[in-house]
Amino acid sequence: MNIVLLGAPGAGKGTQAEKMIAAWGIPHISTGDILRKAVADGTPLGMQAKGYMDRGELVPDLVVIGLVKSRLAESDARDGFILDGFPRTDGQAEALDRALGEMGMKIDAAISIDVDRDVIVRRLTSRRTCKSCGKIYSLLDPTVDPSKCAACGGELYQRDDDTEATVRNRLSVYDRSTAPLVDYYRSKGILHAIDGDRPVDTVFADVRRIVGR
Ligand code: AMP
Repeated sequence: MNIVLLGAPGAGKGTQAEKMIAAWGIPHISTGDILRKAVADGTPLGMQAKGYMDRGELVPDLVVIGLVKSRLAESDARDGFILDGFPRTDGQAEALDRALGEMGMKIDAAISIDVDRDVIVRRLTSRRTCKSCGKIYSLLDPTVDPSKCAACGGELYQRDDDTEATVRNRLSVYDRSTAPLVDYYRSKGILHAIDGDRPVDTVFADVRRIVGR
């Protein structure tokens, strides 16, 4: 099953993707994660992307499309994949369909996780990520210890683009460039919208029903 996860930043795409990987073992392709790693490693791709990311703007289509194409060409993507944070523009969606068509593949389902704006701003500004293992935490959860990762003991940090001003910019970029993709996938008859403002496992039960696994 080849799946696209849609939804505003902070809707819970990464969290649901983690559960899907744990359940089905199919690769999770997050352009945000790939770009953040490139920035941390100081590669030419990272140097090109950093300014856009810090401002909450989109990295140019050509750059992102190139990196997704080469990731999809790896052998582990043949048995299904989860795309998270890609496509984000019409141009990316069309390029994705073309690239998959050339490989004899297609997107089977686009799952849109819908969450109210105020909830998203609160979630994102409270989000912390483990520097070592990448696990995501919310400071809204009173059981979370902000000083260290409960899974590996690593240090928790706030993403540079999770500050309130950048979050608001990312949301307006989402409304302008990415929200129209819901119609793109609806017109293909493969859109499934779910309410993401519920406990993680309740949302995941809906994902399972859609994927049929
Ligand atoms: P994310 O972790 O998906 O919220 O992505 C973080 C940032 O990486 C975004 O705000 C963009 O600057 C950049 N980015 C990630 N995916 C894409 C994409 N598909 N197209 C353009 N920029 C992207």
